[in-house]
Amino acid sequence: MAVEAIEPSAGVKSFLNGAPKKMLIGGNWVDALEGGTFDVLNPADESVLAKVQRGGAADIERAVKAARKCFEEGTFHRMSVHERSKMLYRLSELVEANLDELAQLESLDNGKPYAVAKAADLPLVVEHFRYYAGWADKITGETIPVSPPYDPAGRYLNYTLREPVGVVGQIIPWNFPLLMAAWKLGAALATGNSIVLKPAEQTPLSALRLGELVCEAGFPAGVLNIVTGFGDAGAALASHPDVDKVAFTGSTEVGRKIVEASAGNLKRVTLELGGKSPNVIFADADIEAASAAAASAIFFNHGQCCCAGSRMFIEEKVFDEVVDRVADVARKIKVGPGMAPDTDMGPLVSQEQLDRVLGFIRVGIEEGASPIAGGETEKSGKGYYCKPTVFKKAKNTMTMVREEIFGPVVAALPFSKIDEMEHHANDTHYGLAAGVFTSDVGKAHRTAEALRAGTVWVNCYNMFDAASPFGGYKQSGYGREMGKYALDNYTQIKSVWMKIG
Ligand code: NAP
Ligand code: MG
Repeated sequence: MAVEAIEPSAGVKSFLNGAPKKMLIGGNWVDALEGGTFDVLNPADESVLAKVQRGGAADIERAVKAARKCFEEGTFHRMSVHERSKMLYRLSELVEANLDELAQLESLDNGKPYAVAKAADLPLVVEHFRYYAGWADKITGETIPVSPPYDPAGRYLNYTLREPVGVVGQIIPWNFPLLMAAWKLGAALATGNSIVLKPAEQTPLSALRLGELVCEAGFPAGVLNIVTGFGDAGAALASHPDVDKVAFTGSTEVGRKIVEASAGNLKRVTLELGGKSPNVIFADADIEAASAAAASAIFFNHGQCCCAGSRMFIEEKVFDEVVDRVADVARKIKVGPGMAPDTDMGPLVSQEQLDRVLGFIRVGIEEGASPIAGGETEKSGKGYYCKPTVFKKAKNTMTMVREEIFGPVVAALPFSKIDEMEHHANDTHYGLAAGVFTSDVGKAHRTAEALRAGTVWVNCYNMFDAASPFGGYKQSGYGREMGKYALDNYTQIKSVWMKIG
């Protein structure tokens, strides 16, 4: 018997009920100019959670104007750096003070378990803003000894300034709605940029609530503008001639469109795109721990992780044992509404996403892989639920092994020779993340080096910290988020020469 979903708090209810949610532009909460509103659905039961504005190109236009005005007037990027740091710190405190309600909102909107949002997403968001608060007053240039050959007697002082890029467009996906917003906002705010944020159409609510907290923290009007809407709003932002940079997280397919759209004014682009991450389990690993981690690597967040360990490469000797253990975990996962306390895995985010994932399972079966857990290909009842699925007899050529599924579906592939495994693991357009499980230190380092991915986890998976960079090799994107590396995305270097003798 399923445990009842808990009621959202009074604060969350009052946020959701009533008039359609407005967008934040130039410090004001406004309606869309033309698009009207659209429904935000609860994926657990397909009910309407709230209505939000359907912002379009005209709204992007005024949001960019507001961001530009703020940047030109310098109300933010010329303010005391210590004040800027304090504001970001205040924001982290406000998120922390509202952690429970934000976690509920995230669960209702995205489908993920409330407990997971509370233990993982939200604490990471708090840490992220706190970490970048620390950077805001430590962004320095350098002095460089110079001596131009055509003026050997001249004396010059040369130094660099790291200045904000200006107006930044940020487009984010639905899988970790608030965390993806924080990953983009932390570094952009610490470095003094003005921002237009476009959340995913499926999950705009936590970003709007964050907008309220940004106002409460005292950031000047126009520093953060939020336009809710569909892909056309994102496209208008990516092609806008007065946007200096666009930061995008989403699919590789849309990432390619962003690059094309950016060509008009040659805006800077950073991309965090899809993945098909290999997770390598050697026979000398702690098999119990490795199998549990491999299950979590794919099933965490319902497999809706860009870095999901969706291809398990398992050494032949332990293949059956590991696959059976992972399948056993899959069968025991309790699938249900995110707000029910006993839920391990919530619904997928949308009907579209469910159709896509079920389609991959269907094709996997047609191509000859056998599901030993899950494997259902039809929706049943209300809500976008999908059973965690383990495919045993997978081959590297199969569609579901080659393409990003973005759902709780894992393919198990046996290997006996290390060089062949490395070849197959790297035989993908993606290069976001990888896992290695072994008790041999040398093998761990060699494999970490051999795998072409932006992050490699050894004897662990899905570890994140605001201080550690994250981003892709190959078609998983370019640029790095988090750590000091993300500051490069949002600053440009000015070289200043002064004759001093
Ligand atoms: P998506 O379809 O690419 O959408 C991402 C964002 O782009 C959404 O806000 C979307 O708006 C917007 N968009 C759609 N068409 C656009 C266009 N032509 N121009 C500009 N923006 C446009 O991705 P998704 O399905 O939301 O997210 C899943 C993907 O994100 C997966 O591939 C996953 O691997 C990737 N991801 C990567 C990372 C990473 O760090 N590398 C992290 C998380 C997710 P609408 O919502 O209105 O369509
Ligand atoms: Mg939703």
